[in-house]
Amino acid sequence: MPSAHTAAGTNAAAAPRGADVIIVGAGIHGCSTALFLALRGAKVLVLEKDHCARHASGVNAGGVRQLMRHVAEIPLSVLSMGLWERIAELVDDDCGFESHGQVLVAESEADLQAMRERVADLQRRGFTHEELIDRRELKALVPAVADHCPGGIVSRRDGAAIPFRSTQAIYRAAQRAGARFVEGVPVAGVKRHAGQWHVRTAAGEFSAPVVVNAAGAWADRLAAAVGEPVPLEPIAPMLMITSRVPHFIKPVVILRSRKLSFKQFENGTVMIGGGHLAALDRDRNHTQIDWRKLRESARTVWELFPAMRGATIVRAWAGIEGRMTDDLPVVGPSQAAPGFYHQFGFSAHGFQLGPGTGQAMAELIATSKSPVPIDGLGVGRFATGGGARMR
Ligand SMILES: Cc1cc2nc3c(=O)[nH]c(=O)nc-3n(C[C@H](O)[C@H](O)[C@H](O)COP(=O)(O)OP(=O)(O)OC[C@H]3O[C@@H](n4cnc5c(N)ncnc54)[C@H](O)[C@@H]3O)c2cc1C
Repeated sequence: MPSAHTAAGTNAAAAPRGADVIIVGAGIHGCSTALFLALRGAKVLVLEKDHCARHASGVNAGGVRQLMRHVAEIPLSVLSMGLWERIAELVDDDCGFESHGQVLVAESEADLQAMRERVADLQRRGFTHEELIDRRELKALVPAVADHCPGGIVSRRDGAAIPFRSTQAIYRAAQRAGARFVEGVPVAGVKRHAGQWHVRTAAGEFSAPVVVNAAGAWADRLAAAVGEPVPLEPIAPMLMITSRVPHFIKPVVILRSRKLSFKQFENGTVMIGGGHLAALDRDRNHTQIDWRKLRESARTVWELFPAMRGATIVRAWAGIEGRMTDDLPVVGPSQAAPGFYHQFGFSAHGFQLGPGTGQAMAELIATSKSPVPIDGLGVGRFATGGGARMR
């Protein structure tokens, strides 16, 4: 007889109705927070409307990048990097994590000047992970780059991991630590009564004194339900994969002035992304690829990497993600609802932040203090207003 607590999670009928913390969403963020809370001994229940890693966390580009982050999220990113570097120890799977660095390529002197100013500014703030490189070092790191590129920035500890495998590994580690997952169960509403959150689903009600909103591109609905409407736009970034080409690049490459990110896998295929968006319908989990925009990314690659000119595109896809108007995530306690925490809106760069934000959120819930500054990421930066029901 199959166990009620399998790799597919706990089924709703077998799930405990009460917990210390209920997390809504089993993407990398919900799973990481579940893991770190469970390691602290908390009883954790994760409610997921589809299945673990179904959305952005399972289909992203896998970039593990400290490079070019907004200063408000650098402390979380640095914390996360340390966890990626010992991910196998943490979740018993190396998650395909490889550290060959990430390189930001300047295409002009103006690009390079802006990079020079950025690196100097980061150093004044005490961050040393980004290093300015000249034309010669760029060529040494990325020999195939076009000759007109005058330099760039490298973040040497950065790299990439396999997204679905990573998120599932964190999910399994959370289960081994005691967290319970109920999948296929959308949360329809939350209500606070007598110090407990009552979380309503089609499979009945679950309750806990603490709720974490890790609902990705749908998280604005839960935020609005506790009286904190936020400007979240659901977006669907696209990626494409080429046929195999001879090995020519190790680090992940991103551009400053054009939408491009670029990574070659061990098997020779190349993943091309960078932010062009597909059409989407989040209520139907549906995305529609925009081949015209992908053609632009393909042309950029063609111009910058002559070695890629013979490659063909073999597949493309898009994933649904929540983007905030300021491109920064919302991380921290609710300003309106006691015992309610937000962890969403990662604006297409939240995969790398997963482990660190999970650790920080668990510590914040347990001790009321985050181990690293998260001041710039609070929900309070958006004007609050009415709205007590989920749309
Ligand atoms: C194509 C693409 C490429 C990207 N590339 C990178 C990259 O290279 N590096 C990087 O750092 N980031 C990247 N990102 C961003 C990264 O994938 C996301 O920021 C990150 O995965 C967000 O994780 P999450 O857990 O917040 O959200 P999700 O993975 O979306 O998880 C949220 C979960 O909540 C569930 N949920 C929602 N509403 C409810 C409800 N009412 N009840 C129950 N469950 C609910 C959803 O079903 C979903 O499974 C990329 C994203 C995309 C789409």
